[in-house]
Amino acid sequence: MSGPKYGKYGGQFVPEILMPALEELEEGYEKYRNDPEFLKELDYYLKDFAGRETPLYYAKNMSKKYGVKIYLKREDLVHGGAHKLNNTIGQALLAKYMGKTRLVAETGAGQHGTATAMAGTNMGFQTHVYMGAKDTVRQRMNVYRMELMGATVHPVESGSKTLKDAINEALRDWVSNVENTHYLIGSVVGPHPYPMMVRDFQSVIGNEVKQQILEKEGRYPDSIVACTGGGSNAMGIFHPFVEDKDVDLVAVEAGGSGMKCTEKAALHSASLSVGEDGVLQGARTRILQDKYGQILESSSVSAGLDYSGVGPELAYLADIGRITPRVANDDMALKAFHELSLMEGIIPALESSHAVAHVMEAAESGELGELVVINLSGRGDKDLEAVRKIDLGE
Ligand SMILES: *Cc1c(COP(=O)(O)O)cnc(C)c1O
Repeated sequence: MSGPKYGKYGGQFVPEILMPALEELEEGYEKYRNDPEFLKELDYYLKDFAGRETPLYYAKNMSKKYGVKIYLKREDLVHGGAHKLNNTIGQALLAKYMGKTRLVAETGAGQHGTATAMAGTNMGFQTHVYMGAKDTVRQRMNVYRMELMGATVHPVESGSKTLKDAINEALRDWVSNVENTHYLIGSVVGPHPYPMMVRDFQSVIGNEVKQQILEKEGRYPDSIVACTGGGSNAMGIFHPFVEDKDVDLVAVEAGGSGMKCTEKAALHSASLSVGEDGVLQGARTRILQDKYGQILESSSVSAGLDYSGVGPELAYLADIGRITPRVANDDMALKAFHELSLMEGIIPALESSHAVAHVMEAAESGELGELVVINLSGRGDKDLEAVRKIDLGE
């Protein structure tokens, strides 16, 4: 097993049987990450299939109300409605260059499975998505969506029949079929090289922002705000700015339904803010756990932020003070969901609504400076039914 990569976090804490597969992936990534042909093809898919570049939109009405300049990075306009496709395109293309013909992935709410099916089908892979049996019932439209695009969805009946059981099954599949199969992880989590690789593929977001904000404002923003589940949209927009110390990087975690954000019990998905060191999904990071080291189930109104850990690099950047962790709870996110829809005619994903909520709460205090970029990681269409039910008190 190999050790941490980001301070005390990261590494490869996996069964010995997985090590050759990780080594092969590391070598493959090193071989192709700067290969001109690979990069050219990646660029083609991002542009013509995913619809990049995405606009950096000046939110004029919101800016007026809160007294600071607010820009939205429109990842909600990426094919599929969220940033997730940036990563699945990157990994699927890498898998193709490495000679693989099958993709496996796990999915909770179905968003990552859908993005994997999109890239996988387009590039000619057999795509297998593992999903907890409970989740396949709760998210049957996403199951249908994946099947429409030719993916095979495997409901997982073991354990609690949710995401963590699906992860185990996907890993089992990968170990048994490693010669022709790539395991496509959906966020900056898991053993090395996944956190680095997913960050690199998502960095297209921050690289575009760097150019766009210079064109529009002639300078970098004072702060960049992104919601954080595993942390891929946050690392994607933050990474190109990490060395630019004047840019404050704010990671907003989901506080769940708790009213008081200071109470640990109320912080249901906030691994950065209240998590403790431990090992989850093959890496050392900050995770939600009880005093015996058992993983606590997270909970949030937004399925995409409902993860008990956070990417190791984010945990490290939080430790050294380079990023600022903040928390928004369900009520704040719901309010922001409505407010952005009403003010700008843009319905944000509930995940992204957490980032918007933090800006609405913190902008007037001055803590975010004069020029703020929010990563609008996804669109809210998938959340309409859930929010409508909450509004109606059902
Ligand atoms: C999945 C998802 C997230 C959370 O994942 P990260 O890896 O933290 O980015 C955030 N927003 C949207 C719209 C998502 O679909």
